[in-house]
Amino acid sequence: MFPPVTLDVAVVGSGPNGLAAAVVLARAGLSVEVYEAAAEPGGGARSKRLFDADVIHDICSAVHPMAAASPFLRQFDLDLCHPEIPYAHPIDEKTAAIAYADLDRTCARLGTDGARWRRFMAPLIEHSAEITEVLLGDLRHPPHPRTAAYIATRALAANSFKSKEAAALIAGVEAHALGKLPSLIGSGIAVLLTHLAHSTGWPIPRGGSQRITDALVADIEAHGGRVRTNARVTDVRDLAHARAVLLDLAPKGVLDIAGRLLPQQYRRALENVRYGPAAAKVDFLVSEAIPWRETELGRAGTIHIGGTRAEVYAADNAVAAGKRARDPFVLLSQPMTADPSRGLPGKQPIWAYAHVPHGDPLDPTAAIIRRIERFAPGFRDTILASRAIPARDFEAYNANYVGGDIAAAAVTLRQVLGRPILRWDPYRTPLRGVYLCSAATPPGPGVHGMAGQHAAERVLRNEFGYRPGRTKPVS
Ligand SMILES: Cc1cc2nc3c(=O)[nH]c(=O)nc-3n(C[C@H](O)[C@H](O)[C@H](O)COP(=O)(O)OP(=O)(O)OC[C@H]3O[C@@H](n4cnc5c(N)ncnc54)[C@H](O)[C@@H]3O)c2cc1C
Repeated sequence: MFPPVTLDVAVVGSGPNGLAAAVVLARAGLSVEVYEAAAEPGGGARSKRLFDADVIHDICSAVHPMAAASPFLRQFDLDLCHPEIPYAHPIDEKTAAIAYADLDRTCARLGTDGARWRRFMAPLIEHSAEITEVLLGDLRHPPHPRTAAYIATRALAANSFKSKEAAALIAGVEAHALGKLPSLIGSGIAVLLTHLAHSTGWPIPRGGSQRITDALVADIEAHGGRVRTNARVTDVRDLAHARAVLLDLAPKGVLDIAGRLLPQQYRRALENVRYGPAAAKVDFLVSEAIPWRETELGRAGTIHIGGTRAEVYAADNAVAAGKRARDPFVLLSQPMTADPSRGLPGKQPIWAYAHVPHGDPLDPTAAIIRRIERFAPGFRDTILASRAIPARDFEAYNANYVGGDIAAAAVTLRQVLGRPILRWDPYRTPLRGVYLCSAATPPGPGVHGMAGQHAAERVLRNEFGYRPGRTKPVS
């Protein structure tokens, strides 16, 4: 016998989306509990003092253009620190491309492509809020034709830059798609993230990504909700005391706890979800700032280590085909460029991950050091300590990162339109009262909380009779 219903909503998983869903539901006056398998809440938004009490490392997400732009997270008073250079991209021993927050400075460094960069960015920057709302939306509502036109024309033009600097600035952002390149999805990500560098920015939260989690947990608790840690859910039936259940889980996690209850067609569809290439991460404790050959790189928050556009594409295409790239694409964050509270001058955190094949067991430390050394000779000698998480081991840290796929399901065109599977309402499952709310639903990966918000809005409407704009159910 199931226990009697005693709770309005149970949320499984306390990643940014699970917490966002809990915030929306608790604010609406419902009783909410979040069940988190790990010892701390936050999923992909957790920070830790790994090696030294003075130095804070972000374990998963570090850089937050999506959080800064997210209509959901913008309601919070997050203390975001903006580097002067949101991102940069060393191309060879002599050249680096720099995306300054300031559009004019960026264009001035791009030579012949400066004017094209401005034409590409200007309407995106001007209409940033509308564009962000569409790309972080539930992808079920047609955008205003003008907004759609800006997005589509820019996505199609993303690869038209001729100079190696502008081409690299775009390619490094396209690589965030973690898949085959060039692709429409990669171009779409470039449209979103490149223009955010010149608008709401690529900030980092003061004190670490955990601060985003802390803000959401505090809000849930202030509205009477609870977050229980060390509380892995192994069977969704154990949550029968709740009227509605939201799963902040990858499709594999949904199958693990609810698979036997799902209708065959839906279960098969979830089983067929494709997972993508992976991230293999290293946290470094270093004795000084990275000795970049091009000193301007030392002022950037994020560095894309990928070389030319052709090299970025070649590396990610090898990985998408299941092979290790000889020179893998590496994403690197140097948080102390914007937030000195992360460490001390002689003890600094460096965050880096390489793109590797799905499930790769290899320790990426040597490959990542080699990639950094090419553009910053002497980096190796500054390392005081390091800790690696090979792709294969990410799942033990967070079950949503299947085989090290940090997007919770491959970001392909098919799996963006039908995420995780093709359905008009991607959040609702065939089980009564059970919804998905993770990065495996629209709008996809990133710390923005929007999947959680979209799922929670459906729960309010479908399960509790709320109507948009009202805080009380319609009786
Ligand atoms: C190395 C790395 C770097 C990244 N960098 C960035 C970045 O810089 N910027 C950015 O925006 N995004 C980044 N991301 C992606 C971002 O972290 C994710 O897209 C985001 O965290 C997804 O949020 P979520 O709520 O959907 O799921 P998650 O954050 O993955 O949270 C899911 C939670 O569910 C819990 N859980 C799983 N199964 C169960 C169960 N059965 N019972 C109870 N709890 C369970 C997990 O422990 C976890 O806490 C990065 C991710 C990784 C791994």
